Amino acid sequence: MHVLLIEDDELVASGLISGLEMESFVVDWVTDATSADSAMTTVATDIVILDLGLPDGDGLELMRRWRTRGVNVPVLVLTARDAMADRVTGLDTGADDYVLKPFDLDELTARLRALLRRSAGQASPVIEHGCLRLFPERGEVTLGGVPVTLSRRELLLLDKFLRAGNNLLTEDQLKDALYGMGTDIGSNAVNVHIHHLRQKLGRELIQTVRGMGYRLGPPPAEGPGERS
Ligand code: CA
Repeated sequence: MHVLLIEDDELVASGLISGLEMESFVVDWVTDATSADSAMTTVATDIVILDLGLPDGDGLELMRRWRTRGVNVPVLVLTARDAMADRVTGLDTGADDYVLKPFDLDELTARLRALLRRSAGQASPVIEHGCLRLFPERGEVTLGGVPVTLSRRELLLLDKFLRAGNNLLTEDQLKDALYGMGTDIGSNAVNVHIHHLRQKLGRELIQTVRGMGYRLGPPPAEGPGERS
């Protein structure tokens, strides 16, 4: 899951980034409204964490522009404890939730996951594909009820495929899902992770669409014997 973090306080941001990365989020960090605007158009963002006081403008104003443009990605607003008036204004502007500064990281990630679930229209925190089950909150995968160990990037990739359903995913979209903005990675990186996923979950699960990208295939057959 890609988080766009808009926060000009470096101390707050670095704490958040390391905490979120431990929770398997990919974080794109910007420090002002202008960069946030351009990131919103260039990076696939699943959720936004928005500080209201930015050096080049008001976070609420930025969000208002996005909502007017039809950008409907969930936004979690960070606001100072004494700025209660902002909370009311923010609700009108289209924020999805609030966390007061100073915040507890566990609470913040729990709120993020709840927002992501809501925006995906999922009532329960499990994604099923035949006998394959992904529990995004716990970072666990089972195949026919048997746990399968995946690396962090393999989990991110599987999550992306399961949420995409039948839609084609290009290599660039997958790179975006796996790595932060501007990360320099080898051209083969996505390929390698897909190879590992196929080894662990079955060759058919991720289909190559020649010259275009990848797509989720049929669910793996139950039982480890089928996956070799
Ligand atoms: Ca600020």
